[in-house]
Amino acid sequence: MPSKDYYSKHKEALKGKRKVYYSSHKTIEQINGKIYRREHSLEIVKMKKSWRDDHRQHMRDYQKAYRYNRKLLVINNYGGKCVCCGFDKIDALTIDHIDGGGNKHRREIGGTNGLYKWLVQNNFPNGFQVLCANCNLVKSIRGVCTLEHSK
Ligand SMILES: [Zn+2]
Ligand SMILES: [Zn+2]
Repeated sequence: MPSKDYYSKHKEALKGKRKVYYSSHKTIEQINGKIYRREHSLEIVKMKKSWRDDHRQHMRDYQKAYRYNRKLLVINNYGGKCVCCGFDKIDALTIDHIDGGGNKHRREIGGTNGLYKWLVQNNFPNGFQVLCANCNLVKSIRGVCTLEHSK
């Protein structure tokens, strides 16, 4: 059995050896990693990029669907069609502030998507109606829709 003295005497030497082993080992790994990365850098970049693109596309699709569903919910809660002409294709329908002032309020709560969010959060308050893009545009210019609709 080695005496205590042996360890204390060789402690420093052992420590030193270990240190050398680790540092040289680490260096080899680092070098290997560097070489690997250099040889495969293009593939790695491509891989990362395609993952990011997929991810981004996925998030965009998700957000699009989420916003579309929220808009659908809001539009349906306000009757689902233009109160002026009866147009009912959701893509061209908007929420209109009956008393005007829509743009200011819209700005305050973060644009059109903010408005839909706000309406859901506030449980579809009174004072809003569905208008199609045409009626909404004419109303914003003339105060009322002056289009002649064949109802
Ligand atoms: Zn309309
Ligand atoms: Zn109209």
